[in-house]
Amino acid sequence: MNVFKFGGASVKDAASVKNIINILRENNSTPTVVVVSAMGKTTNRLEGIIEKFVNKQKDALADDVKVLQKYHYSIMEGLFEDKGHPVWEDIANLFSELDRELAKEPSLNFDHDYDQIICFGELLSTKIIAHYLRSSGLKAEWKDVRYAVKTNNAYREARVNWEVTRELVKEHFKFGDSHILVTQGFLGSTPDNITTTLGREGSDYTAAILAHVLKAEKVVIWKDVPGVLNADPKWFDDTVLLPELSYFDAIELAYYGASVIHPKTIKPLQNKNINLYVKSFKNPQAEGTVINNVKYDKLVPSFIFKMDQVLIRLSPHDYSFVAEDHLQTIFGILSENRVKINLMQNSALKFLICVNNDKRKLPKVIDLLEKDFKVSYETGLELITIRYFDQSTIDRVMINKELILEHRDKKNIQLIVRDLG
Ligand code: ASP
Ligand code: MG
Repeated sequence: MNVFKFGGASVKDAASVKNIINILRENNSTPTVVVVSAMGKTTNRLEGIIEKFVNKQKDALADDVKVLQKYHYSIMEGLFEDKGHPVWEDIANLFSELDRELAKEPSLNFDHDYDQIICFGELLSTKIIAHYLRSSGLKAEWKDVRYAVKTNNAYREARVNWEVTRELVKEHFKFGDSHILVTQGFLGSTPDNITTTLGREGSDYTAAILAHVLKAEKVVIWKDVPGVLNADPKWFDDTVLLPELSYFDAIELAYYGASVIHPKTIKPLQNKNINLYVKSFKNPQAEGTVINNVKYDKLVPSFIFKMDQVLIRLSPHDYSFVAEDHLQTIFGILSENRVKINLMQNSALKFLICVNNDKRKLPKVIDLLEKDFKVSYETGLELITIRYFDQSTIDRVMINKELILEHRDKKNIQLIVRDLG
């Protein structure tokens, strides 16, 4: 069997849902699990709705829900002529369920509430797509992934319980008479069946989990780019496609923030030696990128840009050295608040960390750090990582930038810079 992942930027209208059928028909010799994420910008829209939900902006919230509804209905209108088709009732039910969720009082746990609302993006997209595949004559079945992917209750960044998930995936993802199983990426649930999510862009990871357990022949992530590129086309015109990539390089690139694939995606595939293809949704015949255990010494340089970075400088109040117990305090605060370190560096009297400018988490983290350290921070920075760098690539990215901090090892260079406009 194969696992295909669709969604997000590439699945955004009726035409793109129809394109899924073309791709599945061309690959119809093998049973396929189709993992789908939310359509178009739905997840971002839902994040806006969640923000209004916690701030109790009822009217603005209702307007946003209408926009979301209209968007999904317009896609359905392009797919289902028959107004009696069960899809209409299914989607109406989901929107009623969403309304019920939004009528509740926000709890004190933002992350919990977030997951109970954000999941509708995937529930809507999978329902629509499963119905459409069936109405087009494909033997497709809708599956609720939350019965199979079991996690802890670290909402918004839940950890998979592999032992339980392994058993439940085998039990729930049986093909039976179906040739295609359509399910949600990104979602999971706690032992008490409360919805959780695996982190933004987590659908790729779901595809890898299912592929791992079901021993897939391959995973294909269908994207709106031709494959894995050496930089985001947002920043460079002259990007090049990386035709093959080792699991190791894929993990490194994802770790440094390349938006190609969710960082957790690779390990489950590497463990079972499953090839991961990243291919163009619009041009499915093109080769794209294959990620597996290939070996090479060098690759073309890859560039990863992280914007809106904050550099936090910490020094102990008493001018003692930054010692182990200090490090423990710093890491403890960051991990409890789930703030990821993008870069760190220490010297005798200073500890520097570069993190994303998360408006919700950062003020709290800085408050906590100030109890034990003198804290200063700089915002509005960029973090540039170049893998397989050389001097010309450094020169290229440093045009009109002020260098704040540099970190290099054999393969990677990381530059924290300020844009000089
Ligand atoms: N819909 C979720 C997101 O946008 C998950 C995903 O796309 O993989 O983050
Ligand atoms: Mg996505």
